[in-house]
Amino acid sequence: MAKGRVVYHKQPPADAPRSVSTAGARQRRRRHPWLRLLVAVLALAAAAGAVYGLWLLHPVHNDRLLAAFAPQAAAETEPAQDAAAPSDAQTDAPADAPADPNQAAAVPPAGDGRIVVAVDPGHGGVNPNIGAEDFGSEANGLREVDITYATAQALVDLLQADTRFSPLLTTDGSAYLKPSERGAVAKAAGAQLLVSIHLNYDASAEPSGFECYAAPPVLSTNAESVRFGKLLVDAFGQLGLRIRGNNGVRYLYYDANDNKVILESTDTTPRSDPTFTVLSSCGCPAVLCEEGFISNAGDMALLAGDGGCQQAAELYYQCICAYFNLEPAG
Ligand SMILES: [Zn+2]
Repeated sequence: MAKGRVVYHKQPPADAPRSVSTAGARQRRRRHPWLRLLVAVLALAAAAGAVYGLWLLHPVHNDRLLAAFAPQAAAETEPAQDAAAPSDAQTDAPADAPADPNQAAAVPPAGDGRIVVAVDPGHGGVNPNIGAEDFGSEANGLREVDITYATAQALVDLLQADTRFSPLLTTDGSAYLKPSERGAVAKAAGAQLLVSIHLNYDASAEPSGFECYAAPPVLSTNAESVRFGKLLVDAFGQLGLRIRGNNGVRYLYYDANDNKVILESTDTTPRSDPTFTVLSSCGCPAVLCEEGFISNAGDMALLAGDGGCQQAAELYYQCICAYFNLEPAG
């Protein structure tokens, strides 16, 4: 803001009022009536310029002034690249994002009308709390993060190819972000829907199936989250995965001892116990998917590998289109 005012004082607007009223002009006006019209038009233009100048002086419009006169100064005000900060949202912004620094610095989505969808790969980066990379769960030579990231990237590619969407990854895996920070990245980008992709694990190879966790009843995003969750259950059920619980859409709460408590989405009692922080911090309808069990060979036959990840990504894409009442492109 301060920079804008400084620049303004150095260089007043080009539309500043011009002097059009001189003694000579008044004499000519008497001799040539058509000059009155010309003078009137010029006076009107000058008045409009003055009004625009005053409008620009208002603090709300200083950014516009800054951009008009010193775009390089506006660029300097952008946050430095820091993979650990929510600026990740900007590095993941589509390549054809508007060049206008005002739009790029603010919430990118609203400007171009595209639907902002946040895709959370669930894991990745070196977690300082455990002093090791966050791979998620591991079983049978598979790492959760490899599957969830490949699926998330394939989903972002599908959304990117559809001009109605503006997708973002909540993290590129280069640095560890807590789930609440990944939710905050989505919120900062103005996400209208978030899907967090995970795989389940059990010490036994037997448990299997799909389940997903919606934003719980205490959150205003609950109903829309459940609606999206039901679409996902239908899609992954048709893929051949067993559906866990009553209907595959569940709520997760942490009790006073930080133990996980799972309830079915049919339990609509608003509870203040915390849920998955990525769901509560993103500020939009959100679902965390446990696609299947990494410890179950049947689930992994459907979900792992390039083909499995691509197939899952296409299911997510179709569900996202259905959620927004759109037909899938192509
Ligand atoms: Zn996970």
